[in-house]
Formats: sequence, structure tokens, C-alpha cells
Amino acid sequence: MALRNIRKQGEEILTKRAKEIKEITPRIRDLAADMLETMYDAEGVGLAGPQVGILKRIVVIDISEERDDPIIMINPAITSSDGTQTGWEGCLSVPGKSGQVTRPERVTATFTDLAGNECEIEAEGFLARAVCHELDHLDGHLYVEKVEGRLYDNSELQTQSEEDGESDEEAGEDDGAVKR
Ligand SMILES: [Zn+2]
Repeated sequence: MALRNIRKQGEEILTKRAKEIKEITPRIRDLAADMLETMYDAEGVGLAGPQVGILKRIVVIDISEERDDPIIMINPAITSSDGTQTGWEGCLSVPGKSGQVTRPERVTATFTDLAGNECEIEAEGFLARAVCHELDHLDGHLYVEKVEGRLYDNSELQTQSEEDGESDEEAGEDDGAVKR
């Protein structure tokens, strides 16, 4: 396994539509392993192929605190969604920033796993947000296009919660810097 270079906002590959994966080859399995390693190393909760310079429809997600519950989705698609939630988002491709984005509260997504099985996931809350964020990457979209209000520097958010004299619950347990 190896760490991959995370592409940043402004790089053209992040604006392109990623291509379907037709066959799960050893190379795809290596890519998935590298993406997980890269995501954990960067302390993110999700990573999509284009973010490591690979224009293929693959995402990895792990929202667990223990960092031991990875989901690897190949050719994922959202098949239904309902409700709405508004909350903080960040992205490993837009380092040091956060913004408020409205997403569905629940989504159902289909995908292929590394063994080639057709899978379905019902995601709610934060996981639903992560799935939507990552799937947007596969279509060349960044969360910053959907931010309500403005984009914040994470240092600003930390200062805000210090001034409030309490931790900002909306900003999460960390500093609002949930990175995907
Ligand atoms: Zn992202």
C-alpha cells in the first residue's frame, strides 16, 4: 500500500466526470487500499477516485471514530433520498475550510464491492452526508459549490467556539473540520 497525492481545488481533474469501473482488477483493489490509507493518514472520513488523480467511480468512506469500519463503493449510485439536513462540511481537496451544506437526511445507494457483489446501503445523518459528498466528486462537483453563506477558515470556527465559551456542537467534536 502507498499514500497517494491528494488533489486540491483548482486542479482540473476534480471538475471531471469519473468513468465507470468495468472490471475489478488487482489494480482497482490496490487503488482502494491506497485510498483508504491516504484517507486515514489525512484524517478524513471519505475520499473519491478523482481526489487521488484517478478518474474512476470509486469512493471510500469511514465515519467511525475507531477508524475501523471502511466502506468501499465501486460505481455507486443514489437510488432514493428523503428529508434534509444542514451542517458543516469540509473536504481533503479544500484544506482548512468548512461550510454549511444542506443534504438529504437519508439516502439509499447501490454499489459494487471489491468482491464484485452488488450491494445496497441505507445511510442516515452524517453517513448520508458523506455518501452525497463523495458521489458529487465522481461527477466533478465540490461541496463549495453548494455552501450556504460563506466558506469559513477552520481557524475562524475554532476562535468562534472559544469566544462562545463552549464547544460549538454544530461544528462537531473536532473543530468543524470534517474532511472528505
Ligand atoms: Zn471532498
